[in-house]
Amino acid sequence: MSKDCIFCKIIKGEIPSAKIYEDDKILAFLDINPIKPGHTLVIPKVHRSDLLAAENQDLVELIKIIKRIAPAAVAGVGADGFNVGLNDGSAAGQIVFHLHFHIIPRFKDDNLKLWSGRPYEAGAAEIVAEKIKKQL
Ligand code: 5GP
Ligand code: ZN
Repeated sequence: MSKDCIFCKIIKGEIPSAKIYEDDKILAFLDINPIKPGHTLVIPKVHRSDLLAAENQDLVELIKIIKRIAPAAVAGVGADGFNVGLNDGSAAGQIVFHLHFHIIPRFKDDNLKLWSGRPYEAGAAEIVAEKIKKQL
């Protein structure tokens, strides 16, 4: 637990939340500011700031629960699909530094464009791929 962490406060019940699922390791609750109705946050109960700080086994447990909650969220709000997202670092839009996955129900023709892409120029993809592979 981290004293000043808003999600740790939610885990402790110091801040109310609309809970979806809870076990000894994981909590899932509705995002207070949903992109779409049913937008759910899935978090480990242990305080970890982000993906890279998490234990592999905790991530395995999280993805298993995401696999269970996502179809329930879709069915619960009558959606047609879902996005699973994680913002890592402030440059990526991370605001709360307690690891969390977003499950965002999606509706046919909801016109929500989360990312917009642009093709690489000729030869650029190979260069970028090499740079990344070197860091693995
Ligand atoms: P991030 O941008 O860090 O990936 O997402 C943080 C999310 O937490 C945001 O979507 C925001 O709406 C949500 N959030 C922030 N504070 C609270 C809160 O007190 N309660 C709930 N339920 N969600 C919160
Ligand atoms: Zn925390």
